[in-house]
Amino acid sequence: MVRMLGSASQYPIYGPEIQCPHCRQTIPALLLTDSYLCTRHGAFEANPDSEELVHVQSGRHWRRWENQWYRQHTHPDGIRFEIHEELDRLYTQGFRARAW
Ligand SMILES: [Zn+2]
Repeated sequence: MVRMLGSASQYPIYGPEIQCPHCRQTIPALLLTDSYLCTRHGAFEANPDSEELVHVQSGRHWRRWENQWYRQHTHPDGIRFEIHEELDRLYTQGFRARAW
């Protein structure tokens, strides 16, 4: 969504840059839009009304709390998916999930 010139800030609600919720690299805002662009994951749109960040390709939602992104679940399977993603992330950080 492109905003009109003269709105309060030239940046989206989360400021000139954020961390990509997927890969956690710092990604820039696109000037005069509500969008951020990750070179690996594409566009994210910040919604100034709900204060959510939406990944345009997948429709996933996040909210930021204390500098961390928290996934917003719109579907019950989302929880399972998130646990899986978190285990993946821990694994890549060098931890090993215990085999159950
Ligand atoms: Zn990314």
